Amino acid sequence: MEIVSTASSNRFKEKMKEIIETLNSSRRIFVTTHVNPDGDAIGSLVAMGLALFAAGKKVVMYNESTIPTLYRFLSGVDRVTHDPEAIDGCDTAVIIDCGDLHRMGRMAVEMEDFPILINIDHHATNSGFGHYRLIDPKACASAEIVYRIIEELGVSITTSIATALYTGILTDTGSFRFANTSRETFALCEMLVAAGANPSDVARHLYGQYSIGRLKLLNMALDSIEISRNGKLSLMALTQEMLAETGTVPEDIDGMINYARRIENIDVAVLIRENRNGNHLAGNHRPFHVSLRSNGIVDVAAVATTYGGGGHPTAAGFQVEAATLNDIKDRIWALADTL
Ligand code: 5GP
Ligand code: MN
Repeated sequence: MEIVSTASSNRFKEKMKEIIETLNSSRRIFVTTHVNPDGDAIGSLVAMGLALFAAGKKVVMYNESTIPTLYRFLSGVDRVTHDPEAIDGCDTAVIIDCGDLHRMGRMAVEMEDFPILINIDHHATNSGFGHYRLIDPKACASAEIVYRIIEELGVSITTSIATALYTGILTDTGSFRFANTSRETFALCEMLVAAGANPSDVARHLYGQYSIGRLKLLNMALDSIEISRNGKLSLMALTQEMLAETGTVPEDIDGMINYARRIENIDVAVLIRENRNGNHLAGNHRPFHVSLRSNGIVDVAAVATTYGGGGHPTAAGFQVEAATLNDIKDRIWALADTL
């Protein structure tokens, strides 16, 4: 699969041109992103949707999951629908920040014979689905690629679009702390702030307040930390019971893995989260999501790929089914022994 490397390359420009032409000739565009969306997913979805509206297109903005409370301040987010039937009459689909088609959830099946699929992403592990692809692993966030598309569409960056894109960049760079933060990141943010994004407002919405339930859940997450025998891997685990007891939802878990990652001498941090709705699973199996973070030495995207997942070299994940949490922990301890 061809990965387009940088926004300045000729290949990127050619692919961009194809995508702009395709968008311009589309009548009704379905824009979507992955389930359990993070800030980059929501910010990119909203910015792309608003820009296509501004370009005079009929647009459906869709996500399978409810919008996390944290991101509801974004103007335009109320236009996101969760109704799968909204796809009726769309001739083009733009799928953003999804390493593979299945990340978008149940609608992935609908996409298999869809007339035009455009895949926009910054994960090097992207499976390469779709008729048109703009995949730039050097982009700090999918929002960076969306910005470049909006620029090419000739749509002006409104305050709402700028705020959505800034939110995507801020969250995917871990507030400008991760290695994907570069000079381009700041140059882009400079333009977004000039266009109306307000860094202190966005930071206040994203990081200003925690519910008491979230703090209690954090307490449980910290309490669950175990370290591998060789001291290189830290493991956190959160169950459905813990979410129920604290009255929290999966989005409240976002960011907690960073505590496990910060422990001294740790190379890899792991967070196992039990998912809901295991009814469809065979036997007594339950569904889990495993998040992996690396401090730079180990490529966790490669690890996640062996389990059918993906991500970035320093942040990746996969879904897995098992009868008990301990079954998964045993696999993680085996992984730790290889470090
Ligand atoms: P998280 O651990 O926060 O869920 O995800 C970290 C990174 O791994 C994100 O960039 C996300 O897109 C990717 N990722 C997480 N789970 C999966 C998965 O099941 N499949 C793929 N392809 N990527 C995943
Ligand atoms: Mn992203």
